[in-house]
Amino acid sequence: MEPCEYGVFPVKDALEIVLIFGQSGEILYANTEAEKNLGYQGDLYGRRISEVFPGEFKESGGGILSDHPFGHEIRKLIAYRKNHTCFPVRARIMEAEGREGIYICMADVTLEEEYLSREVSQRKQEVEEALKVKSEFVANVTHELRTPVNGVLGHVRELSDKETDEAKQKILRVIERCCDDMNKIINNILDFSKLEAGKFVLEPRRFHVRDMLDYVRSNHINKITEKGLDFFMTVSPQVPEYIIGDELRIGQILNNLLSNALKFTSVGKITLEVFKTAQVGKKAELFFIVIDSGIGIDEGDKDKLFQSFSQVDASISRKYGGTGLGLNICKQLVELMGGRIGVESEKNKGSAFSFSIWADVDDPDVEEGKAEEPEAFSQRTLFDGTSFLDDEYDAGKHYGTEENREALSRNLSKLILCVEMENWEKAEMFMETIRQLSEGAPRDVGRVILRLKMAVQKENYEKTAAGVEELKTFLSSEGEQPAG
Ligand code: ADP
Repeated sequence: MEPCEYGVFPVKDALEIVLIFGQSGEILYANTEAEKNLGYQGDLYGRRISEVFPGEFKESGGGILSDHPFGHEIRKLIAYRKNHTCFPVRARIMEAEGREGIYICMADVTLEEEYLSREVSQRKQEVEEALKVKSEFVANVTHELRTPVNGVLGHVRELSDKETDEAKQKILRVIERCCDDMNKIINNILDFSKLEAGKFVLEPRRFHVRDMLDYVRSNHINKITEKGLDFFMTVSPQVPEYIIGDELRIGQILNNLLSNALKFTSVGKITLEVFKTAQVGKKAELFFIVIDSGIGIDEGDKDKLFQSFSQVDASISRKYGGTGLGLNICKQLVELMGGRIGVESEKNKGSAFSFSIWADVDDPDVEEGKAEEPEAFSQRTLFDGTSFLDDEYDAGKHYGTEENREALSRNLSKLILCVEMENWEKAEMFMETIRQLSEGAPRDVGRVILRLKMAVQKENYEKTAAGVEELKTFLSSEGEQPAG
């Protein structure tokens, strides 16, 4: 093949590599840069496209086959030299004008890629160092914060033991609660930064599963009943007595889910259920579910929940508080324990948060290496989309039903009890529940509710008591003539 026909091309001395291939894939023209870069000395002509770009072009039946469409778009290819070494190129592949064949104009980007990869690894190192500095800073700050908070807490408890004045006791209780809340936030930030830096280490030990669950229950039961909610806990008989796991962290996940359930539920019940869903040798999969009949979560917001610092929306953080770290920490802890966490929820109906973990069973009766049948329950894990939310408490929310009347009168009794004890803060809580329970009530009931709400807000005992009586009378007269 004579090169002279194409040697007159102005691209002969171009800085880029220029190659022209005939329609059957043979090189018709190569400029000086092409010869130099591909390691040929005048013997490039007649070579095949599949020799220069073996991974990109093939020849079949006398034609060129390629996945690369022709055009001005820039593509990355790997070009092979005569000595079979290769280098990355940025190339344009076009149809050769006026001829059957293709025209490739390209530049060696080895140096550029090396520079980029150096840059990337340098940036990565910088980010890692910044993360390290950040987590050390967070660890120091949280430690420094914890010391004074615990100092205040200690003194408050000491004062509280000695104080006999009821009003001062009340103030001390508020300070104690604030310190506890602050400690929870500090611990969350510390856990989060350790998890983020990959420095979190689980501390597995042998523990009694039901004792741990009872302890978790005892942390919440008072607040749950104070709020007028029911609490149910079921532990399947197949759940082992003792397991080897991080008791503290399993408890932390459950505490977090139960605190959220309590925070976002004003009517109904909270349920905690525990099952064993699989067993392989000494290892068991335990499955925990916390179900509430609270405000629920929009379908579109579910993905946000497990991200760090994420709350469903600003109004929720204003109304209920929180840092949005809890569920992200839960997710990371669950994953460290080899499990998964998920949520099923329906707006205004309730939520069911569930997670699984794998742990060693510490039971001499469990034979090593023997796989047991999972509990029938595993057929209805949250991850398969089966619903856990029942309608029982939803019914209580519809004004006029028997359940609703019962829930209303229960909450009215609790409201008046709080008022008699001058606990207006708690009374407001019951008032909010009453307001929610009476949504959809006739206008005259609505007016009494409004008056009652204002009386509670103004801490007016007489008007509150009168409002409660008035509502109770309404309810009992409605009860006599069945609703609907
Ligand atoms: P925080 O520590 O602020 O409560 P979480 O990560 O625990 O943060 O929760 C994030 C958000 O998820 C909450 O602000 C709330 O919007 C939503 N959420 C969590 N649990 C529930 C629940 N049981 N019912 C309704 N919404 C919930």
